[in-house]
Amino acid sequence: MEKFLSFDDIQKSLEIRETDCKAIVNYYLQNIQTKAHLNAFVEVYKESALEQAAKVDEKIASGKAGRLAGMVIGIKDVLVYKDHEFNASSKILKGFISQFTATAVQRLIDEDAIIIGRLNCDEFGMGSSNENSVHGKVLNAADESRVPGGSSGGSAVAVQANLCTVSLGTDTGGSVRQPAAFTGLVGIKPTYSRVSRWGLIAYASSFDTIGIFSRNIRDNALVMEIMAGPDNFDSTASRKPVPKYSELLHFDKRVKIAYLKETIESPALQKEIKENTLSILERLKEEGHEVEEVEFPLLKYVLPTYYILTTAEASSNLSRYDGVKYGFRSPNAHNLESMYKMTRSEGFGEEVKRRIMLGTFVLSASYYDAYFTKAQKVRRLIKEFTENLLNKYDYILLPTTPSTAFKFGEHSNDPVAMYLEDLFTVQASVSGVPALSLPNGKDQQGLPIGIQVMANSFKEAELYAFGSYLMELSNN
Ligand code: GLN
Repeated sequence: MEKFLSFDDIQKSLEIRETDCKAIVNYYLQNIQTKAHLNAFVEVYKESALEQAAKVDEKIASGKAGRLAGMVIGIKDVLVYKDHEFNASSKILKGFISQFTATAVQRLIDEDAIIIGRLNCDEFGMGSSNENSVHGKVLNAADESRVPGGSSGGSAVAVQANLCTVSLGTDTGGSVRQPAAFTGLVGIKPTYSRVSRWGLIAYASSFDTIGIFSRNIRDNALVMEIMAGPDNFDSTASRKPVPKYSELLHFDKRVKIAYLKETIESPALQKEIKENTLSILERLKEEGHEVEEVEFPLLKYVLPTYYILTTAEASSNLSRYDGVKYGFRSPNAHNLESMYKMTRSEGFGEEVKRRIMLGTFVLSASYYDAYFTKAQKVRRLIKEFTENLLNKYDYILLPTTPSTAFKFGEHSNDPVAMYLEDLFTVQASVSGVPALSLPNGKDQQGLPIGIQVMANSFKEAELYAFGSYLMELSNN
């Protein structure tokens, strides 16, 4: 029988002494072993997780336990954890051991969460299917012939298959929301700067966020309120106070909701996703909310803007991996220049190389203005449009993805088809606003469908509250 399906379950069992943290960790370790073929975990921290569990059990016994006592968390292979290896799923970081722990992870540990291992993902977070990983692909537990989404595919499947209570992923352009939709989970991308990026391996620094996968809203909200907030190690982290999201989930207002015509009418949108999205909008109207269609003529520019700016930032961020400072160095080099070239050629995968080249191109002297500067301007337009809309409406609702989980290999030879997977998730990323993906029923093949809600910057509390209400209204 499946156990520990929510943190609430865990806390109740701990309270009546029906279980202890060691037993919880052992339960997940057993599940991880049984479902090892899904390839969600890159490394399981068996010993340190059990040690930590014993410590937390002692703290519980003496009444000194933190707020996350009993919660078992997996972290994406792009978040660093002191004295542990991490690779960003890239050969170029093979063997690299971190000397410190990411702030977001440390805050969870400080509240007695147990870190059970690191999770597979697309190399440096670049991808939408988890097929670009040096650790191999991750299987979607809903249908093992299909992708779990990406780039945080391992983080999604770890929660989907009950291998841990919640997991951390990162979302630069949809990497938490899209896999959450493909695996039937709740996934949040917070406001840009809400959570410190210290210890997160940079992909595109002006977009990168740390997000959470969970089975329900409360677990998600609780982890977010602990992880978020200012950090002396990341000057871009916002100093705005962090509300107690998990205590603000009650929702009984009438609100104004916009949906974007171009997303609903997109020819790329799968029929059942359209139907489920329309039906939830209908339910909201019946419940007395104001629901209005809005035109979003900029939709067609959002993906190109995202891919120009993120590849530019990636080409700069990834220039540090040159064989000198980190991980892998090509054994075939014979002088300094060939060491750089061969390390990078052998160490990075195809998709990462494609993006570094594209990014270097858009930043090159002759094309800078035509692409990079132009994309920055379009970014501002998209951001202004989105923020203005969110001043008029409380929420924007849209599908999380154009399709449900696709088959392995389906987009492998067509990078543009793969990039189109991000069509609906990149608007929040380009604008910096928070967005939540929630399960919204299944398609005819039984594959999970996601619905996405955006709110204005720093309105995570409003997003979670509306999210819990929506979970009840949705087609699940
Ligand atoms: N699929 C998008 C990309 O490849 C999103 C990745 C992410 O959010 N890390 O860039």
